[in-house]
Amino acid sequence: MARTRQQNVTAAQWTANGAALGAADLTAPGSYPFGDDVFSLDAQRKRLPKDVFKRLQATLHRGEALDPSLADAVANAMREWAMEKGATHFTHWFQPLTGSTAEKHDSFYAPTSEGTAIAEFSGKELIQGEPDASSFPTGGVRATFEARGYTAWDPTSPAFILENPNGALLCIPTAFASWTGEALDHKIPLLRSMDALSKAALRALRLLGDSESARVFTTVGPEQEYFLIDEQYYFERPDLYTTGRTLFGTKPPKGHELDDHYFGSIPERILAFMLESERELARLGVPTKTRHNEVAPNQYEIAPIFENSNVGSDHQQLTMQVMQNVARRYGLVCLLHEKPFAGVNGSGKHNNWSMGTDTGLNLLEPGDTPHENISFLFFCSAVLAAVNRHQALLRASVANIGQDHRLGANEAPPAIISIFLGAELLKIFNTIEKREGDPATPGSFLGLGTPVLPPLPMHGGDRNRTSPFAFTGNKFEFRALGSSMSLALPNTVLNTIVAEAIDMLCDKLEARGSNGTSSNDAIVEIVRETYSANKQICFDGDNYTEAWHDEAERRGLTNLRTTPDALPWLVEKQTIAAFERYEVLSERELESRFEVSVEQYSTKLNIEAETAASIARTMLLPAAVRHLGELRAAGHEGLIGETAGLIDAFVSAIQKLEEVNAHHPAEEGLEHAKWMRDNVIPAMDATREVADRLERIVADDLWPLPKYSEMLFIK
Ligand code: ADP
Ligand code: MG
Repeated sequence: MARTRQQNVTAAQWTANGAALGAADLTAPGSYPFGDDVFSLDAQRKRLPKDVFKRLQATLHRGEALDPSLADAVANAMREWAMEKGATHFTHWFQPLTGSTAEKHDSFYAPTSEGTAIAEFSGKELIQGEPDASSFPTGGVRATFEARGYTAWDPTSPAFILENPNGALLCIPTAFASWTGEALDHKIPLLRSMDALSKAALRALRLLGDSESARVFTTVGPEQEYFLIDEQYYFERPDLYTTGRTLFGTKPPKGHELDDHYFGSIPERILAFMLESERELARLGVPTKTRHNEVAPNQYEIAPIFENSNVGSDHQQLTMQVMQNVARRYGLVCLLHEKPFAGVNGSGKHNNWSMGTDTGLNLLEPGDTPHENISFLFFCSAVLAAVNRHQALLRASVANIGQDHRLGANEAPPAIISIFLGAELLKIFNTIEKREGDPATPGSFLGLGTPVLPPLPMHGGDRNRTSPFAFTGNKFEFRALGSSMSLALPNTVLNTIVAEAIDMLCDKLEARGSNGTSSNDAIVEIVRETYSANKQICFDGDNYTEAWHDEAERRGLTNLRTTPDALPWLVEKQTIAAFERYEVLSERELESRFEVSVEQYSTKLNIEAETAASIARTMLLPAAVRHLGELRAAGHEGLIGETAGLIDAFVSAIQKLEEVNAHHPAEEGLEHAKWMRDNVIPAMDATREVADRLERIVADDLWPLPKYSEMLFIK
């Protein structure tokens, strides 16, 4: 390869000479220009014959299927480009229902009859792949003997090159379907939902008097939280490397009580990791924007500049992958689990979402005078209606086992979905509803009390960090996603339910007799009705309080605390109706997603329970017994009694856990998941409770697991 690669930096190297190694490379800006490893528009323009480029762009712009005659030309150019970058193999890169990404590498080289090899990559190979689908979860959509599955090139998400010190790989974003055409991945429904939303939004725009826009895109900008810990500790903790979270560990004496980590200055080794991740992401065309420390010790956040939902979702998968790879070069492990450490803040992913036209208009931009921006109010009330109607489905779209330690537990946001509008918007909707008062919030400035600091324009509303779904200026921020999740399902749900709500509002507008442009009065009337009917979903207060939980119950909002409570909403009647109407997912496809999610819950919980039992019996119990032996040798009666008592309790907790693990009931599916939740989790918790007490009394040199205080504070 032409490019020189940075060497891996291990933890030891870091302390010795890592700073020098890293810094030399990192301070060379421009050595990896943005999008360098992407078969971008620019690369396509340079490499494709002019007419091929034009035809390809025209097809993409119209959102039409690709003419096969184009494919060979594109494939050829793509291969040449990739091989110049050092690629020897290509893969269809797709997103099966596991939530991660899948690759199967094929060489560009094909043997010839003369015993040599020639480089080949046909249009057919670009457009279609045939991975064995039987090893991916399908939730009963297909029997195992029907192993055939297809991957299909998604030309709207650019191909890219993944580098490795020993070679490079051309990755072609693809969709993944069964041979009968059912979606087996997260990309297909996302693309379908973007189409659905575009159609509905265009219908509304016409009624609102916009005759120019030809396409509406949904956009996504995810804020990703993650932890970094030293890899040495990671590999000393079987719970971390098998389940992604610590199953034991007592809370450190110093947590985030001092609030000294959030936005604190970033340690050098961490910053080096961040800079390298961002540089790799830049080469892959992922535009990162912000980085900072998060609330918990060793917790950080990265946020990209938003993109259309499909590309943004692909890029988010890449971001998670790149961060995990780069961390290892710095002797770190990047933890994406929603709750790696009990008693310490977990990690989420804020999903900033909006809709924009191809003419450059953000449909959720209120402008300076939102009360006069009738189109904004229309789309905004459609979102209120959608979220209110499908609150349980939104909750289900972010359900997974890791999330159960956050949503519905003692952490933000709660499992109750509500919308924060902010004071200014709330005032507008309220005045519209009551038909009286002045909707405008006069523009005001925040004086900082000294003439040397400029007065700051005040925002229409404060932030509310406790809300699961907040209006944040010109977008909605769905904050209930888990840090390890793909963006695809929550955004598919958002797009589909908002499309449905927009259509419902359009129906009402048309019923009022306007098939051309509607009058402002008619639109305001629709906004009034919609707000009135859905305002129960709006809540501007503190979402953490008991009072809100009671109030939400009075309002009839759903509070689905655990994954098995939430998942059935994936296959509720009104979900199926909306998804079938917009041809996003059929009932069968929804069923398959439900089944896969339920199975993942039970499987992951089972792995946790067996890991917990094994660590307890083979690592922690022996340490406690050794400690007791030392106490006996020292002849300290009081301590012997205390320790022996705890060990007895520990032994019976372990036996109980082993018992539960060995005797699962015969039920399958959701019933099994619920049984696991109600029996396995309490048995694990009981074991952990005693273990954590033992951790506090057993001699430190005997305790076999690195402690929270080590993992979270040594940098
Ligand atoms: P904060 O932490 O204040 O909420 P950040 O700057 O960390 O904000 O992240 C905001 C995210 O919202 C960024 O990823 C940004 O690109 C994204 N965003 C901004 N405008 C839009 C939009 N119109 N659609 C989707 N995402 C957006
Ligand atoms: Mg942020």
